[in-house]
Amino acid sequence: MSGSGGVAWLFDVDGTVLDLVTGSSLRPLANELFFALRARGAPVLLWSAGGADYALRRTRVVGVARLDTATYGKTERDEHGRWLLPQLPPAHRPAVLVDDEPHEIRYPGEIIGVPPYVGHNPRDTAFAPLLHRLTA
Ligand SMILES: [Mg+2]
Repeated sequence: MSGSGGVAWLFDVDGTVLDLVTGSSLRPLANELFFALRARGAPVLLWSAGGADYALRRTRVVGVARLDTATYGKTERDEHGRWLLPQLPPAHRPAVLVDDEPHEIRYPGEIIGVPPYVGHNPRDTAFAPLLHRLTA
């Protein structure tokens, strides 16, 4: 476990949860992963460089926003251009970040990189090991 002390998981939207081309294809196993997190009492959070409202809109389109989801914007970068987390309530301090550009984030906790989800692809398995980690 990271030093963040939290249990929430924070997901990037574009290229991580949703495809980069249309923004309307939910990555396979995303719903199962979010459900498994909630079943363990872990808040599911989403954040995007498009802003918190954008993240909420996009995730509503694909039906994941119903899952007690909170959204945040990527708004601040450090001196090396890496995204910094916004101010978060204690319950939303993430234990794990999941992102298709993990090198673009600065965070002392665990960061899991996934390959970019480029376009609709029912065979994508990037979330399988994460789901396995929660349900094994
Ligand atoms: Mg991304």
